[in-house]
Amino acid sequence: MSELERTRHILETRDFSEQNLAFLLDLHEPQAQEHLRATAYAAKLATVGNQVYYRGLIEFSNRCAKNCYYCGIRAENAEVERYVMSAGEILEAARWAFEMDYGSVVLQSGELSSPANTDFVEEMVRGIKDLSGGRLGITLSVGEQAEDTYRRWYEAGAHRYLLRVETTSRELYARLHPADHDFDARVDCLRLLGKVGYQVGTGVMIGLPGQTPLDLARDVLFFRELDVDMIGMGPFLPHHQTPLADGEGALPPQDAFARALAMISVVRCVLPDVNIASTTALQAIEHTGREKGLLAGANIIMPNLTHTRYRTGYQLYDNKPCMDENAQMCRGCLEGRIQAIGESVGYGQWGDSPHAGSRPGT
Ligand code: SAM
Ligand code: SF4
Repeated sequence: MSELERTRHILETRDFSEQNLAFLLDLHEPQAQEHLRATAYAAKLATVGNQVYYRGLIEFSNRCAKNCYYCGIRAENAEVERYVMSAGEILEAARWAFEMDYGSVVLQSGELSSPANTDFVEEMVRGIKDLSGGRLGITLSVGEQAEDTYRRWYEAGAHRYLLRVETTSRELYARLHPADHDFDARVDCLRLLGKVGYQVGTGVMIGLPGQTPLDLARDVLFFRELDVDMIGMGPFLPHHQTPLADGEGALPPQDAFARALAMISVVRCVLPDVNIASTTALQAIEHTGREKGLLAGANIIMPNLTHTRYRTGYQLYDNKPCMDENAQMCRGCLEGRIQAIGESVGYGQWGDSPHAGSRPGT
């Protein structure tokens, strides 16, 4: 059986065993790759349509207590100048998103668990709800926290939370993090977030040192088992001031890019009605990377609203794009790119996934 025939068979029968998913993630024949992409795109049109939803991304602080080996803003990177945007700056960015009809914002930062940080995030969530009359959707992406903290922020008005599991291979997780970063604690947090009532988003990095197609196949089955609403995945890209700076054992950028697109397509086929982000890390490898992500099956874009003066402080990996552009420039540039591939922007809508809407009680 050719690669194309086997790809067709797996997708038609929806026989998503881990071996079959690993096969789809490692296709070599261009025709088979294109069949996977086209099937995912058709599934996207049938479930979430061709509207792209924006989540205006506010990277409000690069202070972090953790030390993930891959991340440019890890606590032990003494070269990074640390910043926290003021309440006024955060609310101003959110107001801009509201006025531009973005529908939703994401507040993202390093991970801190101090009471002062908890209060600050809560205050920002309330402030954004107030300035938009409750109309701006709020996603948080601020790491592992206690149940009570998650609850307070949810009650303040945040309704989605992004916490990437990074990889579901325990062995890989242990190699990418110091010993006190606990895989089980991260998974517990994901379950807690669902229990508190959030729409839960998770995801992984692709092309990590030593990561195999089978590891990624298991990641996809984990997303299904966890019953998540949103997926954010992107290629791993080395940062020169981290322990993984040399990228040894990682996929070369172009291969990580191709595998990331395959992951988007596979996730769209397995979980047709979830939201999938086309992430900035794709654009870091290829100029039109985010458009390719949309054509592979993604339907969410997170335009960066972080003030230009802070962007250099939030470099998770080297060569992050758009470092010297402001939110207005990003807006014009993005809309043109989306229209050029025959899609449109779903302005003024929260853009929750049909999956989230279909769950009892939501
Ligand atoms: N601190 C929070 C957390 O870790 O969940 C949220 C912010 S963190 C910077 C957001 C994501 O950046 C992480 O989940 C990780 O997947 C991604 N990231 C960090 N370093 C990266 C790298 N070198 N290449 C690609 N993605 C990276
Ligand atoms: Fe901190 Fe998140 Fe980076 Fe880990 S990935 S070092 S928790 S900002």
